[in-house]
Amino acid sequence: MKTLGIIGGMSPESTVSYYQIINREANCRLGGNSSADILMHSVNFETIAAMQRAGDWQGAGEMLAQSARRLENMGAQALVLATNTMHKVAPAIEAAVEIPLIHVVDATAAAVGAAGLRKVALLGTRFTMSDGFYTDRLRRSGITTVVPSESGQHEIHRVIFEELCRNRFTEAAKRDYLRVIGELQNEGAQGVIFGCTEIGLLLKPQDCPLPVFDSAEIHALAAAEFALHED
Ligand code: GLU
Repeated sequence: MKTLGIIGGMSPESTVSYYQIINREANCRLGGNSSADILMHSVNFETIAAMQRAGDWQGAGEMLAQSARRLENMGAQALVLATNTMHKVAPAIEAAVEIPLIHVVDATAAAVGAAGLRKVALLGTRFTMSDGFYTDRLRRSGITTVVPSESGQHEIHRVIFEELCRNRFTEAAKRDYLRVIGELQNEGAQGVIFGCTEIGLLLKPQDCPLPVFDSAEIHALAAAEFALHED
């Protein structure tokens, strides 16, 4: 089994999901009391969120690159950056280490492609929905995205930071998210990417009118596959 290095804490609520999914997958595949071999560095999310608000992506990239180096020095054989948004600085992280970064967009694109879909709704932070680093990479895998209107993006983003990342889950947020998903379905979306690792804590696939691609689950399972795959 290979050792995974998780850069977590963005937010801690969804890092729990990664830890649980990877360990459960290891147990399921290997049996007995087996679990995964994991190193983790969990950052202070407020530091990262403040850098996002200030547009200091270079500083955030340097901070996460330092986490990556620490995990590599401790023996991690691959990195898992347990957030979609911070993949905006994936190139800075990749440049800082020799080990591979298991990229959330590549894992998610593979899942959408395997389901035979070509046009999907994308929900996430406003950085993920509108900065291009996510949608451009999906497009390179042949997947086009539809994103919420300006006001829809504002509300989706607000709920992520003010509620989901703080372990608050309300019926009002659920209703708003489902309304936005319905609007994107009317625009031709064949499925919906939960492109923020906390959305799966609010909505379950059975709540949604479209097939769901939960990035946290897909990404964590891709990491487990890397760790457990026999060479
Ligand atoms: N966990 C979220 C994501 O998947 C948002 C938190 C962050 O900005 O990193 O994008």
